[in-house]
Amino acid sequence: MRNRWNQQEAARLDDSDTVGQRVYSSRLLGADSDLVLHGGGNTSVKGTLTDVFGETVEVLFIKGSGWDLRTIEASGFPATRLPHLRQLAQLPCLNDTEMMRQLRLALLDPGGPTPSVEAILHALIPHRFVDHSHADAVVTLSNTPEGEQILHELYGDEILILPYLMPGFLLARQVAAATEGADWSRLRGIVLMHHGIFTFHDQAKTSYDTMIELVTRAEDFIKSKGATSLARSSTSLSQSDLRYLSLLRKQAGVCYGGPVLIRCNLSESAAGFATLDNAEALVQRGPLTPDHTIHAKAFAAVFDDDPVSELETFTAEYEHYFRQHAGPEHQRLDAMPRWGIWRRRGLICLAPNNKRLGIVADISRHTIKAIQQAENLGGWTTLSRKSLFEVEYWELEQAKLKSSNPPETMQGKVALVSGAASGIGKACMEALVQQGAVVVALDTSEIDLSPNINDSVLAQQCDVTCSSQIDKALSQAVQHFGGLDLLVSNAGCFPPSALIAELPDDSWEQSVEVNMSAHMRLLRACIPLLQNGFDPAVVIIGSKNVPAPGPGAAAYSVAKAGLNQLARIAALELGGYGIRVNTVHPDAIYDTALWTQELLAERAAHYGMSPAEYRSANLLGAELNSSDVASVVVNLLGPAFSKTTGAQIAIDGGNERVV
Ligand code: ZN
Repeated sequence: MRNRWNQQEAARLDDSDTVGQRVYSSRLLGADSDLVLHGGGNTSVKGTLTDVFGETVEVLFIKGSGWDLRTIEASGFPATRLPHLRQLAQLPCLNDTEMMRQLRLALLDPGGPTPSVEAILHALIPHRFVDHSHADAVVTLSNTPEGEQILHELYGDEILILPYLMPGFLLARQVAAATEGADWSRLRGIVLMHHGIFTFHDQAKTSYDTMIELVTRAEDFIKSKGATSLARSSTSLSQSDLRYLSLLRKQAGVCYGGPVLIRCNLSESAAGFATLDNAEALVQRGPLTPDHTIHAKAFAAVFDDDPVSELETFTAEYEHYFRQHAGPEHQRLDAMPRWGIWRRRGLICLAPNNKRLGIVADISRHTIKAIQQAENLGGWTTLSRKSLFEVEYWELEQAKLKSSNPPETMQGKVALVSGAASGIGKACMEALVQQGAVVVALDTSEIDLSPNINDSVLAQQCDVTCSSQIDKALSQAVQHFGGLDLLVSNAGCFPPSALIAELPDDSWEQSVEVNMSAHMRLLRACIPLLQNGFDPAVVIIGSKNVPAPGPGAAAYSVAKAGLNQLARIAALELGGYGIRVNTVHPDAIYDTALWTQELLAERAAHYGMSPAEYRSANLLGAELNSSDVASVVVNLLGPAFSKTTGAQIAIDGGNERVV
């Protein structure tokens, strides 16, 4: 475990700026996925503040809920009255609702984030800095039959090792009881079996250093036993595997109650794990740390080649688990598995949106490594399903998943956009991501992605005139997102103006190829995926030249007219599958790659206008751009047009030849 403390960076912080130091070393913990993953772990520092009456108040700056250690800032550590927290720790019992109310009551700023559910435990530890992680190596050791013994030998009596107890007030009480009369100056940390590790000190650096030292000791032990070797294998997917994934996605969406995303992990280590004889039993045993249950559920699924029966098996098992442990106050969550092994191939992850999919993918990757190490050390030993249920259905954990924002319109939807590097395609890609969809973006040119949409886009260089390149791109799309719901067939070219009498063969043929045949090839390849899509829809980018052609553009206009006919026939053929096919006819969109300044000047001159006049020469006198087209396209793909197919919509500011 690498110690990331950088003396130079840390020296920039004032000695008195304890919250600044807290932010700095919290981020160091957050930077290492072997220590904490996605909102796991928490940290605090004790200090004083002057309240509105001018009185000095002892406070605990504790990680607020909703913050991630990797990116936390000073405002993520709300000041909470320390005496109030310590007094709460004296209570014989405190239910969750009351505890959360009390934590909020203890805030100095009532508008601050709710303190971590471990705030009372942090308050009990007398040291100023407290660091808590779910370090893989430590938890892995605690998840083995001899784990407790090994940890005792590894850490001696400087570290308190406590059996598992539900996080929250009960855990705080357990620590209070276990440390009553203890000499805290001799204690350097606490290991909670099956959960994680705490370290503490009056100095931020020492508390962090201790965490790294103790976790390194656990890692070294695992290495010394030769337990780090992991199974490896290689895998590649067949056409029927891809069909399986898109069917699985469809069926999983039924389990979940809306569109979901799927991602395969076909890495050597995932494929190796999937070849283990007992992999199926291992993934159903339980998670690395109970905190993972809120994202990944208490156990995983087994996938092979029959999505319906495999999901039924998981759902029945989940139903049984719920009925066994639920009280009258519980409502069953959706029964969709969040990950599972895919026999002989690797892992499959499932989630309602791309962010959660990334979290599940990370959790499953860490889990299969921990499982194999624990197996090498005597056996993967997890918590009972009862204990896992308590955490998965703990209202305070579930609250972490709830967002105050309603889900985006296109959450869980997968869209494919061709010609996405610039102009209308790029605008459509960005608008779809903004609505919550993930996008498979194709172009022959490199696609430049802004950091805010990077995670939601699978960009691929692909020439849509080539069927084999399309197949390859779709195969990647299915492995990365599970299928396809929406298609924006946009890629096109605008050949140089030429009268028919002078039209070169290659110009004609290229336009027919790019502006017509390539759309057929892309649509043809996408149809089997769209048939398994959620409210599937296609938008073809046509042209004003279809209803109102101009001289000198035969190659372009004829190909687009052919494309228009293709779209109409597609609407006829695909309606029975619920796939909508509509066309937009943009005109005068000059911020696209088709239009250069020279071409604009030439066309304007052709009509005896200046470029500025030409740009707004329409009934509304409006200048149009790519985002205007994208807005119409996204609406056509969405619920507003769920009953419309075979339509052609102009986006041209009004053209008297079309009207
Ligand atoms: Zn924890």
